[in-house]
Amino acid sequence: MNLYRQFRMILMLWVTACSVASSAEKMPPNILFIFSDDHAYQAISAYNDPRKLLETPNIDRIGKEGMLFHRCLVPNSICGPSRAVVMTGKYNHLNGFVNNSNCTFDGTQQTFPKLMQAAGYQTAIIGKWHLGSNPTGFDYWHILPGQGVYYNPPMIEMGVTKKQQGYVTDIITDETLKWLKNRDKTKPFLMMCQHKAPHREWEPPLRYLNHDGGRKYEEPATLFDDYENRGFAVKDQDMTLEKTITPKDMKLVTPPQLNDAQRAEWEAYYGPRNEAFLKEKPQGKDLVRWRYQRYMHDYLACVKAVDENVGRLLKYLEDEGLADNTIVVYSSDQGFYLGEHGWFDKRWAFEESIRAPLLIRWPGIAKPGTSSKEIVSNLDFAETFLDAAGLPIPADMQGHSLKPVLQGQTPADWRKSFYYHYYEFPEPHHVRPHYGVITDRYKLLHFYAPDVDYWELYDHEKDPNELRSFYGDPDYTKVTDELKTEVQRLRVELKVPEKEDPSMYGGRAQGKKKQTPAAE
Ligand code: CA
Repeated sequence: MNLYRQFRMILMLWVTACSVASSAEKMPPNILFIFSDDHAYQAISAYNDPRKLLETPNIDRIGKEGMLFHRCLVPNSICGPSRAVVMTGKYNHLNGFVNNSNCTFDGTQQTFPKLMQAAGYQTAIIGKWHLGSNPTGFDYWHILPGQGVYYNPPMIEMGVTKKQQGYVTDIITDETLKWLKNRDKTKPFLMMCQHKAPHREWEPPLRYLNHDGGRKYEEPATLFDDYENRGFAVKDQDMTLEKTITPKDMKLVTPPQLNDAQRAEWEAYYGPRNEAFLKEKPQGKDLVRWRYQRYMHDYLACVKAVDENVGRLLKYLEDEGLADNTIVVYSSDQGFYLGEHGWFDKRWAFEESIRAPLLIRWPGIAKPGTSSKEIVSNLDFAETFLDAAGLPIPADMQGHSLKPVLQGQTPADWRKSFYYHYYEFPEPHHVRPHYGVITDRYKLLHFYAPDVDYWELYDHEKDPNELRSFYGDPDYTKVTDELKTEVQRLRVELKVPEKEDPSMYGGRAQGKKKQTPAAE
């Protein structure tokens, strides 16, 4: 090779390298949003629950390589409403999806995927959608109908229903990887990978049927809460391990979706254990204890599969050289009770329900291994993603971009209080509508409908397990007055209607009798 040809080759290599580098610089970051359903922060090892329920190394890794958020609060702690908040960056009284019972998401409204799609992002959603109408703003969608099922689930791909074989969490990840592999590599992507797990009825992958080797899980301190020192709503709920949980929840009934080989494997695990339970017939507290152990076994097996599948996605990003230019978010649509107060489910403004897990890896922005106790919310996701894409943030969104918090530069005027509003009543679970304000130390809640009207005040410093309302205690008069002013200020700022239509509580089951486990 003569000198000229050598020089020309070196020059060409350099030009190519420069153009690759500059296009990488110009390319806005990809966003991989991994969202699960009903995943309690207590069941993520990074959150250090005293019970040490399980290890989630892959989810934890997102926090280790980015930021772990300790107080990500949701505006309305149930599935559909929470998803509508994520899509719109608005409270439910403005996005129209206030409850799971009689709402359909208006897909013509502004959402962050639509804005990102219009700006040149490739957008896709795979997995649980749960908003009634078909997804809009996505180049590709492949969703579970409604709540979906765990085993061999039907899925709707761009309007066409197909039955899949296998376990739902694996399938959603397989489909996510398939889309990522076949995407247009000249464009940045927004991928929303949304799991059904670990939603009720907590059906484990067959490979994790004996994942804990029969471990006895430590019970939460409030498993046998008597609901004293609080108002009527807490006493009148229907979400207990004692009264509400069903034989299906407890795996005393075989799920109908299993094929013959799967059923044999499933029954080989549960069959002898169920026989022993039916023979022993535990009663009272012993029965609650048995149910708690079964619940933890099943729920944690579902989480284990979510964590494993998060690992598959992280590995793909690494293998493809995408990790440095991809924001990875792990969160869930709300928190969940893992036996605290004797409960499963969510809905309340209380801590286990209102706090969603949130871990974000954003290379170059979030310093690895950091954490934040600021009050953030899934209301902030839309604005964070638009900010990441360098797009303008619409004035009618109600959150804040998390970028400065991730950079360790939380603005001085960052929110110090958070507005909560839950509507769905009476079914399921009989939790009365309430709204309120939450600060780092206090919660002031108003239970206001349809047949109650009273306030409660919680003080986390004195009562971390939320076992007592201090409302009306003379020592708390000043703080109560301040919080009442604050909640009213927030209602005005957030455009909460003063009067609401009772249909907002959910029409489907109005007047239906409370569930009784015996009837199910
Ligand atoms: Ca949920």
